[in-house]
Amino acid sequence: MASKTTQHRVRAARKGGTVGPGIAKTRAKTVAEAAPGATKPWTNAEVEEAFRRFAIANPNPRGELQYINPFTLLVAVVLSAQATDAGVNKATPALFKLADSPEKMVKLGEPRVRSLIKTIGLYRTKAKNVIALSRQLIARHDGKVPDNREALEALPGVGRKTANVVLNVAFGEPVIAVDTHIFRVGNRTGMAPGKAPLEVEEKLMQVVPGKYLRHAHHWLILHGRYVCLARRPLCETCIIADLCKWPGKTAFAAPAATYGSS
Ligand code: SF4
Repeated sequence: MASKTTQHRVRAARKGGTVGPGIAKTRAKTVAEAAPGATKPWTNAEVEEAFRRFAIANPNPRGELQYINPFTLLVAVVLSAQATDAGVNKATPALFKLADSPEKMVKLGEPRVRSLIKTIGLYRTKAKNVIALSRQLIARHDGKVPDNREALEALPGVGRKTANVVLNVAFGEPVIAVDTHIFRVGNRTGMAPGKAPLEVEEKLMQVVPGKYLRHAHHWLILHGRYVCLARRPLCETCIIADLCKWPGKTAFAAPAATYGSS
């Protein structure tokens, strides 16, 4: 548990809006305290309660990447590696207007794809991968996005995380794609500690109740993106603040009136 002085300092930093060297050190320390194994494990009942609240707060969570069909979803996820969804969404409407299928993408050609996505980081490699995966979809899958992990991961530029997003969003599979937000939330809260994304994913698959698995991916991403922020988590507005095991948290009660009690 973080000392009262630590909590006071973090609160003071929030109020002031600026962070002095002492506070920065304190915050760095509290973040470091979220290392795997540093927090108390959650009970099954606590995990169930957290997801019950997520489900009440947002019954139909959606990702923020824009897409038209499974193919454009796959392309959008490939483009989103080491980039923000907002950045990808700025570039993809023009791209998808011209190419919403593997055939049209191949016809558009790599130089044109490159120029349409040049505002996205690593755009040269990504343009190459988008064309290569489109060719592979045509050659091996009749131009369709496959609905199994092995075939997805065999596509250029597609790793486990991308495959999981496509399986979950396009095909409704109860899988969790561990991105930077889920990795942080899993470790910081202590719900699913792990040194690598796969470890966090496996832990989440063990602890999240089956009925919540379908949407757990989006609930956790949105929680990390908008509440449990990397530098300055908004513990005061967090609906799982009472359940969270992070020693550095700055709120100890959730707004239960809004989300009901267990
Ligand atoms: S209380 Fe909520 S916002 Fe704060 S660290 Fe825990 S999960 Fe994140």
